[in-house]
Amino acid sequence: MFILDLLFPKFCLGCGYIGVYLCPSCLKKLEPVKQDVCLYCKKPSLLGLTHVNCGNKLNVDGMITIYRYNPMLKIIIKNIKYRLAVQVWNDFYKMISPEVISKLDCYKNLPSDLVIQPIPLSKNKFNERGFNQASFIGTFFQKFLHFPIVNLLTRNTEVPAQAQIKNKKGRYLNTKGIFTATQGVNPNVILVDDIITSGSTVKEAAKILKRAGAKKVYVLALAMG
Ligand SMILES: [Zn+2]
Ligand SMILES: [Zn+2]
Repeated sequence: MFILDLLFPKFCLGCGYIGVYLCPSCLKKLEPVKQDVCLYCKKPSLLGLTHVNCGNKLNVDGMITIYRYNPMLKIIIKNIKYRLAVQVWNDFYKMISPEVISKLDCYKNLPSDLVIQPIPLSKNKFNERGFNQASFIGTFFQKFLHFPIVNLLTRNTEVPAQAQIKNKKGRYLNTKGIFTATQGVNPNVILVDDIITSGSTVKEAAKILKRAGAKKVYVLALAMG
């Protein structure tokens, strides 16, 4: 590791400061989400649980996000490259304050057969990028939650990035049919993604998992856009 440090010195992904992946001043610029919201109406909700009147049978049951997707987090995520990802997330794990993560404890009160499912990339996207950020984030959350990471979903088609589609209906149509569930879906699943914006991707994933037999599907994301 020492040789590696010499060859590739650590630098802050936010400002370039040498020696750490996230320096104290950039860490301070991250904004923890204080009030969780219902994924469907975006109004406050205890622990991000979906309001009874907001969902249907195939909905996401609750969503927890850790940080706001502010300019600092945007830069950090953009600068995480494949070569760095494992080390970066290991370092982040040590830096995130316990209070920020403490709301994850609510998952520990849920049935113990929960599994962590990172939102997959399609094969093409994966080959293009070389890694799936959601998988690393899944591993990061696993350090707090200790549930197994599973691979129940396949991402099928190549579709334009969500951010390029501005209206809500377009986003919904855009995500339709993008996932296939494998046989033997676990009953209780936590979907993990990096950033939740409209939420249409996780909503679609929840629908597919529930059709395949999942009972409860929760969402855990690093950031809320
Ligand atoms: Zn910095
Ligand atoms: Zn609601």
